[in-house]
Amino acid sequence: MNRREFGQGVLVGVPGLLGSSFVGASRAEEDKPPLRNSPEGEVYLEPAKKLPVHRFDVVIAGGGTAGVVAALAAAAQGANTALIETKGYTGGTVTEGGTALHSFYNLWKAFPGVEKRQVVKGFAQKIIDRLLQVGGCTGHAEMEKGFDYDSVCTAIDTELYKLVTLEMLAEAGVSLYLNTTVVAAIREGSRIQGVITESRAGREAFFAHSFVDCTAYGDVAAYAGAAFTEPNDYAVCNSIGLANVDVEKYYEFLQSHDALTQLARGIRSGKPDQIVRLEGTLVRLPEEFRREAAAIGLSTVTTTVHDNYFMFLKINLRLPVSPTNRDAVTAAEIELRRRQLRAVELFRKFVPGCEKAFIARTAPRLNIRRARCIRCDYDIPREDILEARHFEDEVFVYGFHDMAPRYKIKNGGTYGFPYRALLVKGLDNLWCAGMMITSDFVAHMSTRNTVCCMGQGQAAGTAAALCALKGYHSRNLPYALLRETLEKDDVIFVS
Ligand SMILES: Cc1cc2nc3c(=O)[nH]c(=O)nc-3n(C[C@H](O)[C@H](O)[C@H](O)COP(=O)(O)OP(=O)(O)OC[C@H]3O[C@@H](n4cnc5c(N)ncnc54)[C@H](O)[C@@H]3O)c2cc1C
Repeated sequence: MNRREFGQGVLVGVPGLLGSSFVGASRAEEDKPPLRNSPEGEVYLEPAKKLPVHRFDVVIAGGGTAGVVAALAAAAQGANTALIETKGYTGGTVTEGGTALHSFYNLWKAFPGVEKRQVVKGFAQKIIDRLLQVGGCTGHAEMEKGFDYDSVCTAIDTELYKLVTLEMLAEAGVSLYLNTTVVAAIREGSRIQGVITESRAGREAFFAHSFVDCTAYGDVAAYAGAAFTEPNDYAVCNSIGLANVDVEKYYEFLQSHDALTQLARGIRSGKPDQIVRLEGTLVRLPEEFRREAAAIGLSTVTTTVHDNYFMFLKINLRLPVSPTNRDAVTAAEIELRRRQLRAVELFRKFVPGCEKAFIARTAPRLNIRRARCIRCDYDIPREDILEARHFEDEVFVYGFHDMAPRYKIKNGGTYGFPYRALLVKGLDNLWCAGMMITSDFVAHMSTRNTVCCMGQGQAAGTAAALCALKGYHSRNLPYALLRETLEKDDVIFVS
């Protein structure tokens, strides 16, 4: 294609430029860089490129909480699977944002007489098993205090989580593309043919039968033209890992102010029955601590897998606009890092044993609780969750709500997660999994949690693989086949 042909092609998709003189331009104009004025300001007409093509059965975009599990599940069915992740490691927000993995269990402790049941297993539990082997997890530690919020605390070593999941993906035969970002979708009618990526290898195209969007932001769905909203109804956050601290002394500090609200004991530095989770109520803490913590959005909850380390301290910030706004996020990144220093100074000053604490880990960029909310065939309402409803197309069950004790799943039970909630509306071969689904805020406060995202990942990855290998349309995949496959891979179905 010569430059004139390229210019004609680009002009079709840029209505604001149709009045420009690009078509039929003089030779002198052709030699200039393709800069033009448009109603949006000055624009550059990017030359078309020939992109190398990779072909797979299944492409998973985003190797975070849901994406890792989706890729493991797809590969387990024998699908030729690619996982494309923009960062240099896997794990996403589970390694960057939260304190513990909520939750593998029902909320039995809050309901006297209700039986303790592990309700999520599958690949999520396999990751925990591997972490336990290398000293990277507390185990499912029972909550001694605050158990009307969650009955267990499953905390992880964030760095070992990255390594363990990378190893599991490699062993499963998943083709990993790290430091590679999905930047566009190639859509024909109601199917996605491919996604376009950028990395230091240049721009590339990944074609597949099935795609799973696990980018948290719903990038693939949005680029493919799916409907979405941007509610901007949560704070963003950049959590820190605080080292050179004394876990027992933090416990005593909270106790001395009669402020302790959460406590769990589990495996820490290889020893059982150690404190692994603590939270205090700010209202009982010294006035200066309370005011400064509130000012910087600092939460007192922390978990740990190591003796002298607080694995996560959350520092929150409300954005004026949705976190898809690059410029607002840039300002927030700077402000959050200022707040991180103020948080360390607060701990150094007030909490015994933390006098020489320092920041050992931050997230590489701020974390979101949600940005885009992608429209799917079914939008889970809060009633389904709170009333513990089950469905004929459910693909796993779940029993945690992040607003407990105010909102709990009825009778300490579970709700079923419907398959149709994973199908992106209007697209035939795109599933999504993770924080990007469920528009009702109260319902989202359950579905966005890590273990639920992992359950969604397993279901979406499995379905995507079965459709690719057996030629089913996503909406005609026989439920009996999907369920049998999920059960084979240790997914539990209990009510
Ligand atoms: C501050 C905070 C605290 C939380 N606390 C808890 C808690 O204590 N317990 C709990 O259970 N849950 C908690 N949550 C919720 C939970 O951690 C998240 O909702 C969940 O981890 C989201 O999983 P995900 O797979 O949707 O997204 P992620 O885990 O973020 O995965 C998305 C992945 O996609 C990648 N990606 C994004 N865009 C692209 C692209 N265009 N191309 C390629 N890759 C891309 C990202 O790098 C990332 O790895 C918390 C969340 C936050 C933000």
